[in-house]
Amino acid sequence: MLTHFLPWQDLYRLFFPALCPACQAEVLAPKSILCPTCHLELPYTRQATEADNAFCEKFWGRLPLEHGAALLFFSKGGRVQHLIHKIKYGGQQELALQLGRMLGERLRQSPDYQDIDLVSPVPLHPRRLRWRGYNQAACLAQGIAETLQKPFEEQALARVQFKKSQTRKGRIERLKNVEESFVVKNPDLLLNKHVLLIDDVLTTGATLEACALPILEVEGTKISMATLAMAI
Ligand SMILES: [Zn+2]
Repeated sequence: MLTHFLPWQDLYRLFFPALCPACQAEVLAPKSILCPTCHLELPYTRQATEADNAFCEKFWGRLPLEHGAALLFFSKGGRVQHLIHKIKYGGQQELALQLGRMLGERLRQSPDYQDIDLVSPVPLHPRRLRWRGYNQAACLAQGIAETLQKPFEEQALARVQFKKSQTRKGRIERLKNVEESFVVKNPDLLLNKHVLLIDDVLTTGATLEACALPILEVEGTKISMATLAMAI
């Protein structure tokens, strides 16, 4: 009888055990993405249910942020950095989607994220998108949108390159401007909407701020943010 055989996935796992993307230990539970240790012990934040948390503090005096949360704290060389590296450079779109679902689950349990209208990722530079083939922030955003049961909207923003009046600025500043300028592609899409902006990592907040400001210029918009990790 067929039932006596192992399903092919189990057979495959026997020879090629799934390894934890954060620490490389074997993942024992077939449906889990992380090993049991990381599942319990990664540096998870409690920001989804904390008002005025460290995430929101980053934006004080910069823009009116409704709510903000990261799933994890990130430090150089740690397990969370491995995860980020895998979704950014390792081609692991499915991992990004699943991590997005984990973050989405935290947000779903918080009353703060119930009135979100749209989930939008920080756009990747078109050149980088061509080279990498996918936007890791979009994969995260898809997982979050799915879990929150809210619309995923990838076309809200576009990166732009300012070419005018850059000549007198220093090279670094010019490059920074090119990297971090965004425009709203279709204001009607955002009118009176509460937008949840998604990125992989929050460090200085410059990129998220540059995305949020043009959105906030559209009438009636509100901004919340979520990232996979936040630098400490
Ligand atoms: Zn692990």
